[in-house]
Amino acid sequence: MRENDIPKEFYSFETNAPFERCIECEKYLLDDETEYIIEKAVKNYEGYAAKDTVFDYAICMDCAEHMRKKISKESWSSMMRYFQENMDIERRLEMQHKHPEENLKSCMIKKTQIDDCREYQIYAHCKGGRLNMDNPPYLISGEVMEELIPLLSDKTIDDMNGFLNKHFSPDPSLMEPTPPRLILV
Ligand SMILES: [Zn+2]
Repeated sequence: MRENDIPKEFYSFETNAPFERCIECEKYLLDDETEYIIEKAVKNYEGYAAKDTVFDYAICMDCAEHMRKKISKESWSSMMRYFQENMDIERRLEMQHKHPEENLKSCMIKKTQIDDCREYQIYAHCKGGRLNMDNPPYLISGEVMEELIPLLSDKTIDDMNGFLNKHFSPDPSLMEPTPPRLILV
């Protein structure tokens, strides 16, 4: 496995240290062989350096797989098609060799610079205390989220919102004006 240190961007907002537990099953994540995903949604304020973490979590592969199975086949294939059609595969492969922080500077799909994204989400695939660079970390802008939402069934959106509501009770002002956040584990 190509690997790297986990950048601070993926530390838990609450503890300012690496995530230790799966949000769903509480499994300990920092054993060498344990794989998991980290997702973080961030809101940027135009013209200000301030950022807000809307939510962040780590989820083990078993729980991620369980959530993925709940997504309807139609929603899943529309989402996959969107990525196939919009993602620059060569760029994605190059990301394996770049420094992880380099990969988080712009949207993987739209190439929008991070400071120009009103909102964005970042994802990492980790194994124990290391970042798995075979599946390098990436950033998705709010614009991509907005394009993905109409491709999903109401049930999938409800399931995703159910997951968020179960685990987070974010400041409502952070949830405006783009309502549903996507969980792309
Ligand atoms: Zn779990």
